[in-house]
Amino acid sequence: MESSGQQRGGPPSTLGLLLSGGPGFAQIAITNVCNARCDFCSFAVGKLEKAHFRSATYEGVRDACDVLFDKGIRYLTFTGGEPMAHPRLLDMIAYAAAKRMNPVLVTNGSLLDDRACEDLAERGVQNVVISVDSEDEATHDLNRGFPGLWRRIGAANRRLGDLGIARTASVTVSRLVRDYAALPAALEGLGFDNLTFSYPLTALHSTYLSYSSSKLVEYGSDELVERFREIQRLKPRFPIMNPTESLNEMIRHLRKEKSRFPCLAGHKYFFVDWKLDVYRCHYFETPICSIYEFRDAAPIRDHCDLCMIDCYRDPSVLQYSAVALSDALGHLRRGRPLRAAGALFDRRTLDSLRAVGEGMSWLTRWKRKKRPAPARSASSSNEGPPPAGTPRPGDPL
Ligand code: SF4
Ligand code: SF4
Repeated sequence: MESSGQQRGGPPSTLGLLLSGGPGFAQIAITNVCNARCDFCSFAVGKLEKAHFRSATYEGVRDACDVLFDKGIRYLTFTGGEPMAHPRLLDMIAYAAAKRMNPVLVTNGSLLDDRACEDLAERGVQNVVISVDSEDEATHDLNRGFPGLWRRIGAANRRLGDLGIARTASVTVSRLVRDYAALPAALEGLGFDNLTFSYPLTALHSTYLSYSSSKLVEYGSDELVERFREIQRLKPRFPIMNPTESLNEMIRHLRKEKSRFPCLAGHKYFFVDWKLDVYRCHYFETPICSIYEFRDAAPIRDHCDLCMIDCYRDPSVLQYSAVALSDALGHLRRGRPLRAAGALFDRRTLDSLRAVGEGMSWLTRWKRKKRPAPARSASSSNEGPPPAGTPRPGDPL
């Protein structure tokens, strides 16, 4: 097993971090409570009994930030359930940002009014990821159980854009998307900068419940391969963050062919739940340990390819080249030049760099293409009443 480049007793320096394969990320689910009714998710209202509702404390998340930072984590994704339902979300984000971790928020958008957008910007959020289920407004709102949510997301995106926060649409590959070709116009109309597809999940074994045996996400392998091909064909029309090479990797997975890119979950990426247990990813039933024991946990590198969780598989393709460079340096330090060359001069390094270039080139072209946002009319203001049944941030759900 190669060194992770992480030092005991303190955070790695920026150079140390770069030489050890780059920074990692953690997804932290601060609550398992959600206010939405999505058919393909087991966090949905009515599916998780109230007796099992749990949320992390502010103090616990603060401790988690300290430990994760020392382990080289520089991107922290706040998720749930619905993280905006947590009364201390803003304090948690502010703490992470003050530690120079990049806080990202994943939300269903139901609680994103103007004030919430401004609060998030003030606390240091750089990217908000909002779920969109379909190219069709009514289908989306029906699945989420929030009439008017689509329009609310559009209004929130305008405000977030004004505040300089990047907006990513997260679209689950499901039967609610009936016309992939119509997605770019729909998402552009909603004010998104880019799009990431979530690959359909019918089973996870950790405490994370964002999966379901719903028919909406049940696909045969051939059908799913065709959906992935469709996503690849869509790439010239909108910035899609899933790398082409990662979609190819998922197609190999579906065809039970050998994977090319080792998953970095357990090495660079982690999942932390509301109990502050650290998991390698959402898939495994047993946590690595509690966050309070995590400083001493060794990285796991076993080329696992059991699942298709985009959150871990996509970045593993992108970060492959940085990790290969770190491995090569490790071999050189140990006087093994041939193994160093083998780690670096590998076709996968080139494909990984190409995937990084793909993302950067689409973003640049998209920014150039974008026209200035139209002036906001009174009717597009986000000051109106929230959708029926929408609680306020922090309201008990
Ligand atoms: S997909 Fe998200 S918004 Fe929908 S029920 Fe699950 S956690 Fe809630
Ligand atoms: S392939 Fe899936 S199960 Fe295996 S470590 Fe990666 S995310 Fe976890």
